[in-house]
Amino acid sequence: MSDCVFCRIVAGELPARVRASSPDALAFDDIAPQAPVHVLIVPKAHHRDVPGMTAADPGLAAELIGLAAEVAAATGIAEPGYRLIANTGPGGGQTVFHAHLHLLGGTRLNWPG
Ligand code: IMP
Repeated sequence: MSDCVFCRIVAGELPARVRASSPDALAFDDIAPQAPVHVLIVPKAHHRDVPGMTAADPGLAAELIGLAAEVAAATGIAEPGYRLIANTGPGGGQTVFHAHLHLLGGTRLNWPG
């Protein structure tokens, strides 16, 4: 059994509210939402972070972004818009070391934070 929480969600060993899937990616709700819509988009295969994933398999980055756009449309946040984030490394705020994008929306998001 993997000790990676997202690998275990992909394997169906841990519960998750799945929003969408594609051949090599899965989208499910974040357990601690930071916006009305907060969905994680992960590759089904284990990669440590988004740059590592993209170096190993460039097409996966496009698949994750495409799946995020599908979820944004399905959840009604494509308009007026949403945010995609890839926290990378401890200094970037990454806490789960399985590559993922955060899809955030459903409220006015300020920048910077
Ligand atoms: P990071 O800080 O960018 O690595 O994001 C990891 C995210 O995973 C955080 O927003 C957590 O709330 C979320 N998370 C951790 N465990 C689970 C889980 O079991 N299900 C869904 N989301 C999780």
